[in-house]
Amino acid sequence: MSATLFISDLHLSDERPAITALFLDFLKERAAGAAALYILGDLFEVWLGDDAVLPGYVPVLRGLKDLTAGGVPLYVMHGNRDFLLGEQFARECGCTLLPDPTVIDLYGEPTLLMHGDTLCTDDVDYQQLRTHLRRAETQREFLAMSLAQRLAVAGRYRAESRERSRSKSEAIMDVNQAAVEAILRHHHVRRLIHGHTHRPGVHRLAVDGHAASRLVLGDWYEQASVLACDAAGCLADAVPSTHSLR
Ligand code: MN
Repeated sequence: MSATLFISDLHLSDERPAITALFLDFLKERAAGAAALYILGDLFEVWLGDDAVLPGYVPVLRGLKDLTAGGVPLYVMHGNRDFLLGEQFARECGCTLLPDPTVIDLYGEPTLLMHGDTLCTDDVDYQQLRTHLRRAETQREFLAMSLAQRLAVAGRYRAESRERSRSKSEAIMDVNQAAVEAILRHHHVRRLIHGHTHRPGVHRLAVDGHAASRLVLGDWYEQASVLACDAAGCLADAVPSTHSLR
């Protein structure tokens, strides 16, 4: 039986062409035989708008389009890097954009899907920045800029975020346990799949006396990292690249 695949945090970028090559192989081989593919945010390191696709991303769009043309349903959620992915992108690659959060029926088990950044509630200044960046007005202003201006603004945000992250503790940048429990309770689900923290793992917890689980997807910095689910359950694996990573 073919599995439903979940990935996130590929952060595809011209700076790491081997990961793009690995992802294109993954689309052609493993994903082509999947029941569905879910990308839970940060597929791209930066997305400047559907009208400004960077040249390095053109083969990726083609790969996604080939996947969906082959009949594999593709669902894409915004991450904190590529939250400007829009309807034109979705049309071009034949995917469905998923709101964050979304509950799906995963082989009979209601499962909550998120990127994960909204769970990091201890990171107060990140949450403030997020609120600002997600405002319709902020995004309208950004999309009205020239490509060169957008690149400059995005570069500035990246540098600032890197600078701020350096001074923050690991705990502040991880999910907040109370936020996890609250969202599971709110959606009446016992399973959550998310990415963002780049700390792959399976966490067991109890919500109001019920066993629940939080499955965290890994990033694609050094290897492919895939969670495969079928009726028997979910299994994570990390596949080292056969492409030279450096
Ligand atoms: Mn992220």
